[in-house]
This record gives sequence, C-alpha cells and structure tokens, in this order.
Amino acid sequence: MTRTMQWPAAPHAPVAPDAPAGTAPPPDAALATRLEAALARPAAQQPVWPDPRLAREVRERLSRAEPIVTRAETARLSGGLAAVARGEAFLVQGGDCAETFAANTEAHVRANLRSLADMAAVLGRRTGLPVVKIARMAGQYAKPRSQSVDAQGLPVYRGDMINSAEPTPAARTPDPGRMLRAHAHAAGAMDLVRAFCAETAADAGGGEIHVSHEALLLDYERSLLRADTSGPAPRLSSALGHFLWIGERTRRLDGAHIAFAELLSNPIGLKIGPGTTPEAAAAYVRRLDPHREPGRLTLVSRMGHDRIRQVLPAIVEEVTASGHRVVWQCDPMHGNTHTSANGYKTRDVRHIADEIAGFFEVHRRLGTHPGGIHIEMTGEDVTECVGGSRGITEADLPTRYRTACDPRLNAEQAHEIATLTAEWAAA
Ligand code: PEP
Ligand code: MN
Repeated sequence: MTRTMQWPAAPHAPVAPDAPAGTAPPPDAALATRLEAALARPAAQQPVWPDPRLAREVRERLSRAEPIVTRAETARLSGGLAAVARGEAFLVQGGDCAETFAANTEAHVRANLRSLADMAAVLGRRTGLPVVKIARMAGQYAKPRSQSVDAQGLPVYRGDMINSAEPTPAARTPDPGRMLRAHAHAAGAMDLVRAFCAETAADAGGGEIHVSHEALLLDYERSLLRADTSGPAPRLSSALGHFLWIGERTRRLDGAHIAFAELLSNPIGLKIGPGTTPEAAAAYVRRLDPHREPGRLTLVSRMGHDRIRQVLPAIVEEVTASGHRVVWQCDPMHGNTHTSANGYKTRDVRHIADEIAGFFEVHRRLGTHPGGIHIEMTGEDVTECVGGSRGITEADLPTRYRTACDPRLNAEQAHEIATLTAEWAAA
C-alpha cells in the first residue's frame, strides 16, 4: 500500500497543524471541547464493549493510524456536491449494504466500482450532466439494527467492525479490535478505488470515485479527526471517508450523531424516513448547514414507493423556503424492504423504480433539482432483489443470496435502474 501523506498523531484531541498562531481560543481546544460535548449526548445503536479498557486502547491506536482519505479529495467532492445542489450535476451513490472483511477482495471491490461507474455512464450520456460518484465503500462496516437480539436469541450482528455474523455467543460479542481490522480493510479498499479510478480516468463514467459510509460507531468515527480552518468556521475533517451520513435510526436532534456531524467539514448526508415532518427537516438543515453552503448537506429521502408522493412535497417546500441549497437524493431501497413467502428479506425492482419515479415527479412539480440516487447494489450476479428484466422470482432468491445485511441490486438490475433514472432525469 502506498501512502503519500502522514496524518498527525492526535491521541487525545484533534490537532490543528495548520492553524494560525495566536488565534484565541485555539481552534483545536475549542473543537476538542465541542467534540467531547457532542459525544456525551445520548447515542443510539452503540455496542457495549465487554472490556472498556481494551476499547480505549484501540481508540488510542486508531487515532495514530493512517488516513483513509485526503482533505483535497474531500474538498473536490464538496465542490461536486455544490454543483449538484445548484442543479448542474447528478449524484450516484451505491454499494453494499454492509461491507464485510471476507468480501473485501479485489474482485468484489472492482465489480462494485465497475457497476457504479456503469450507472454513472448511463446517467451522464443521457442527461449530458456531470455525474458525481460516491461508493458505499472503505468503511461501511457498522450497521444499525431494529432488534438487539436475533431469531435465535443471540445478540444481533452489527457489522464486521463490531462483531461477527457467525451465530455463536462468542462471535456475536462486540470486539473493539475489529475497529482496527476495519480501518486496515478500509485502507486496502481505498487503494483499489484509487487504482480503479486511475485506470478508467479516460472512460465514459470514469474519473474520481469518492467513498462513504454511515457514521454510526462513534468510537471509530471520532478517531481520525483533524482541525480544518479552511471553511467558514473551524471544523473537524474526518479522514475516515469523504462523505459520511447519519442514518434513520440515529438522527434524533438532541443526540450524539447529529451533534457530531455538525462539527465536521466533510459533506454530510442525512437519511429521512416517512415519519419526518417538514419542521424537523428544516431543523436538521439549520443544524447541519448553518453557513448555507450549497451541497454541504444531502437529504436522502427513503420514504417507500407508496409514501413518497404524499410525504416528500411538504418537506421539499419547507426546506426550499428556508433558503438552504441541499442535495436532494432518493434512497429507493430502505422504504421498500419486505420478507418473501420463502423467508428472505428482499426488495422488488418495480417498487425501487416507482419510488425513484415518485421522487422525480415531486421535484419536477416543485421546480427543485432531483439531485441523485443512493442504492444498495453489487457488481456481482446475486439474487437478492426480485424483478428486473431477467425476472428474478422469490423461488430464485436462495440461489445466490449473499448479502451480510440488506438485499442488493445485482449489476444487471442496477444498470436497469440507472437506465430508467436517466430517462426521468433527461425528461
Ligand atoms: C443503510 O443505508 O444501510 C441504512 C441502514 O439506511 P437507513 O438509515 O435509511 O435505514
Ligand atoms: Mn441497508
């Protein structure tokens, strides 16, 4: 693995190597205080480490680990998202629901990147707009769960960064050492992302691919932060990913995750489900985009195909009236999950397409830019979602059902969704 820059060690507090001397109060100390206050708030979906001392040791080691991303890369993404927010570009984000250590192979990473680049090429060709690409990759190792125990009464699998999917009590016990493994896997994946982008730079759909994950596990997320004084206010730049999002289950306004995201200079996503009120959406926008930077915040609606046309319009109107320029992104996956008759968690390509159609209808009617899509997919030929031109049925699901968490579109289904999206985007 090649590394061109060394991250400054920050064992206890974020450091500010590029802060001007004599600023008062020093941004590092002020930010460190705000970070501690953010992390002291109630945090949903955190594991209870059996050995807190070991967890602290791991955090110390992580704080001295190498960065996964550079600030220059993240700044380029911010520029791209500003263009999306202004209606001048389109955003495609996608990848595994949950990355796993075992599947973090060159073949898998490249297949996912190829599929993402293919979707971007389809969209770019049809719309003539630049397409910003973000992979769910190089850190998507922690999962929020709706239950804390599984059907067998075992602690639920929370992602490879926390425990193992293997159904034994020992394997399901949270192990903080997994955060170090996650970091190493993320670094390896990021090397492959950079190699892939260099090789495909000249292709349609080529160019830079950024990486993202859900900022869920706060012991991991707090570990590689650096003071960033380049923006409108001193903030913390996370070196763990270019784009971080806050999920539907951890977005309480008085909680740690929102307070943490507020401190970051990275572009931020926020998942909003069908229970989101227009007032809550406006409150999120004020908290997460206080300096009114176009594209700083991406609102990721995940309403369900049968709700989006009712729920999204009032939210869009309220946010538009607030004057903030967000990126509007459609996640057509998480509101459309059901269990098949033969017991598989699945999604129907028709429902996914219909939610995207509803997203375009709402934005076209309101005159806002339908900025992009966020999907769970893999370049591999899995059978996890039903439908698509090959007509995958419920009976086909067991054939190649491989996801560690939610069902993903396969490469062909992802291509079909991109083709439909491109038609609506070009209309
Ligand atoms: C996810 O993106 O995998 C996820 C858990 O989404 P949400 O927070 O929208 O449920
Ligand atoms: Mn998911």
